[in-house]
Amino acid sequence: MKSKIMKCGVCGEYTLEAVCGKCGNVTKNPKPPRFSPKDPYGKYRRMMKIWTR
Ligand SMILES: [Zn+2]
Repeated sequence: MKSKIMKCGVCGEYTLEAVCGKCGNVTKNPKPPRFSPKDPYGKYRRMMKIWTR
């Protein structure tokens, strides 16, 4: 995934910028990383994704 969709916690605007273009507040990632290095099942989930393709 190249682009990181960020979401403003104040007005709910989705943006690719680190700062909301509407209200100027700092945006944050609405979703946790899909594959966390701490996730022991991430490897298997990646394999599953390849299989279901
Ligand atoms: Zn905003």
